[in-house]
Amino acid sequence: MTRDADSLKGDTHAVLDHAVRSASVTRAVAVERGAIAQLPRLVAAAEAPRACLIVADPATLQAAGHATIAALRDAGIAVAAPIVLDEAPRVKPRIDLARDLAARFAREDSLPVAVGAGVISDVTKCAAGIAGIPYASVATAASMDGYAASGAAMLDDGFKRTFACPPPVAVAADLDVIAQAPPRMAPWGYGDMAGKIVAGADWMLADATGEDPIDSTAFALVQDHVRHWLGAPAAVAAHDVVALRAMMEGLLVSGFAMQAHGDSRPASGSEHQFSHLWEMDRIEIDGEPAAHGACVGVGTVAMLALYEWLLAQDVAAMASGSLPAARDPHRVEAEIARAFDDLRLAASARNEMLAKLERDRYRDARVRALACAWPTLKARLAASIVPAATMEGWLGAAGAASHPADLGLSLAQLRRDYRRARLIRRRYTILDVLEDFGWLDRAIDALFAPGGFWSRLARGKEVVTRASRALP
Ligand SMILES: [Zn+2]
Repeated sequence: MTRDADSLKGDTHAVLDHAVRSASVTRAVAVERGAIAQLPRLVAAAEAPRACLIVADPATLQAAGHATIAALRDAGIAVAAPIVLDEAPRVKPRIDLARDLAARFAREDSLPVAVGAGVISDVTKCAAGIAGIPYASVATAASMDGYAASGAAMLDDGFKRTFACPPPVAVAADLDVIAQAPPRMAPWGYGDMAGKIVAGADWMLADATGEDPIDSTAFALVQDHVRHWLGAPAAVAAHDVVALRAMMEGLLVSGFAMQAHGDSRPASGSEHQFSHLWEMDRIEIDGEPAAHGACVGVGTVAMLALYEWLLAQDVAAMASGSLPAARDPHRVEAEIARAFDDLRLAASARNEMLAKLERDRYRDARVRALACAWPTLKARLAASIVPAATMEGWLGAAGAASHPADLGLSLAQLRRDYRRARLIRRRYTILDVLEDFGWLDRAIDALFAPGGFWSRLARGKEVVTRASRALP
């Protein structure tokens, strides 16, 4: 065990067990070395005996698929020939692919078993949901939090959407497999986990404004433990099994929190709006699409910087002062037209902003409620967030992307994307608070001004970025 991982000795298995017991669909989970051998037992705990059908890609078939088939057959479970999804340059989570897969599932009376990480997990989940059948999951990397979540992040006509579909009935996360995953994947998981800090703060703001009341069970599942899960970044980078176990448990618990709450609010706030935006913009790193967790990590630093700015403002004074003029729908429409060249993305953004505009009649009430709650809320927010520069350091130690430069994005693009990010999802976050107060442009200007957060971080970053590029 590395020294960094010593801090993870505190046991979060009990948290995971508790989350599984209260889950609505998932019945059995194993996070341990050799967990694939447990799959027959996990499946039996959830489902009547039936044949299984593996869904994998060529890499995950090698890494875990063959072992999964052997474990099931050893237990006397029939296994059909695996479905190996193989597209150049790689499989994408397209909704039409899930529909094709669902048609195949419907023809076979088998339990699909997703053997893979983000894409394989989401496509199989979505397909099983369309077919109306249960499925199981063998997690092959600690790279994202979607394994145990309801809903799959799918590409529909180029737009990233979460499709409602049930989570798996059983999950096996084999640490021997996860430790052998490509080294960039656990840092993606760390980035996705870092986002929970912002997601929690955004939910507090949405709760205080009356937009989205906190579900205390789902909130606590993530927020009571997220600092523990983020506590050993260097051990994550080193693929320390203790650290990977804690990460995997945290990612699964985050999924269970979403499962319990019914949507992604417990694990996804404004930081994920950056990641969804960048994924839709198809940004690439060295010719590869930027990974979800990499984008979330950078989005997290960006939003934490915004939180630090908000916490320095006299929010309470807003209740007594006069509020800015109401938002003009024509200006919102013009901004959407400028922000998205792609007409489909613009149409989707229009839809999301329409939902926000319809709630603008509550804007004054939101501002006053927040100003009124501010003295106590400010203290809770300050205790719950992590300084942006600290988070940037944690992400760097984990080997994760932490700065827009790591995604090939300039500061000018990031600056523009602070405004664009709020256009793509109706979920109420700090971006909407700042807009309600008429402070969004002021806040963004402050972050990019000389001496502001991004100008301070940019100087040291050149060195860090060059150093990280030298790594294999
Ligand atoms: Zn995520």
